[in-house]
Amino acid sequence: MKKDIFIFQLFWIVFIVFGCKSVSTNKMTEYKTLNMNNFDTVLEDKRITMHTLSNHNGMQVFITNYGARIVGICVPDKNGTPVDVVLGFKSIGEYIKSPDPYFGPCVGRVCNRIAKGKFTLEGTDYSLVINNGPNHLHGGTKGLHKVVWDFEKFSDTAILLSYLSPDMEEGYPGNLKINVRYSLSEDNALTIEFDASTDKKTPVNLTTHTYFNLSGISDISINNHIMMIYADQYTPVDSTLIPLGTMIPVEGTPLDFRKPKIIGTDLDQKDLQLKYGGGYDHNFVLNKTKKDSLTIAARVFSPVSCVQMEVYTTEPGIQFYGGNFFTGKITGKDGKKVGYRCGFALEPQHFPDSPNQPAFESIVLSPGKSFYSMSKYVFSVKKQSI
Ligand code: BGC
Repeated sequence: MKKDIFIFQLFWIVFIVFGCKSVSTNKMTEYKTLNMNNFDTVLEDKRITMHTLSNHNGMQVFITNYGARIVGICVPDKNGTPVDVVLGFKSIGEYIKSPDPYFGPCVGRVCNRIAKGKFTLEGTDYSLVINNGPNHLHGGTKGLHKVVWDFEKFSDTAILLSYLSPDMEEGYPGNLKINVRYSLSEDNALTIEFDASTDKKTPVNLTTHTYFNLSGISDISINNHIMMIYADQYTPVDSTLIPLGTMIPVEGTPLDFRKPKIIGTDLDQKDLQLKYGGGYDHNFVLNKTKKDSLTIAARVFSPVSCVQMEVYTTEPGIQFYGGNFFTGKITGKDGKKVGYRCGFALEPQHFPDSPNQPAFESIVLSPGKSFYSMSKYVFSVKKQSI
């Protein structure tokens, strides 16, 4: 087994050193896979469309107001050829029908899991839909991901989407007004800003749920990507992926990504956390010296495209999900089957199940206060690995 891992690592190291030499600064040619017309429809009397943000350095971001969702992110690869590093579909119909509804949307009101779908706030017990084993996941059946958002496009590089989630929608108290702003800068950074306000106390934890494959191919494993996560600790979970309520060091565990590591390196280790997650599906406690500051959370690199993505966030945690539940039954926009562990999500957020975890920072938003978070996904091409 050890020998297999060694050969696997050696192969990728050789590939990375010699494969990424041909970095060119050519301007990208136009990306043709996504057609706006395939995203024009009406759902529950609301119009759905797709919008493109683009800059002068060859980056394009495609966004639909169905779930305020990222449909594609196109960046130049090592040859200057556009590569779409986001998994998804060619048409809105496929997004609406997809058995996995989490390709690219904003998720909330409370992302990640709430144990048994229950929480108590100001003496009142609330019950949410159970949609993931015994637990509540990503805000419920429709959450924010299956609703049609309003939008306002400001320019070629910025769009604002808004949604008013009515009192008791999906079981959550209060009318919650949510805005998400996507903006693209000339240095190939996509910034995602959330703000929200409420008229009753309510828990809020919003994130973006994009499945990335930096090689841009739906059936190539992401286990060959090299990743770093800036976290000394993580929140271990039980067998239903609910945190135990503690924060423990990553040191000496497969969750140690403090130095660049090929994602697949430790996946075969006999480890209870990997067993529970079916692989990586964990919240990392980001190293921050100042609360709410925008700091680097993760860096990922594909040895195939030589594309590097850096994630910065004001959030205290980041969920790394390694695509363990992909079964190869869904066909992606490149016509290939989205295979097991062929996409990953890096979801900046407050810690999972916070409403039931006294040791975690509160996610309760009060009337008169506003929720704000900012995350940045920065793309570049690297001659050599991170
Ligand atoms: C969760 C996974 C879940 C996935 C759904 C992730 O945020 O951590 O457990 O299966 O979302 O796409």
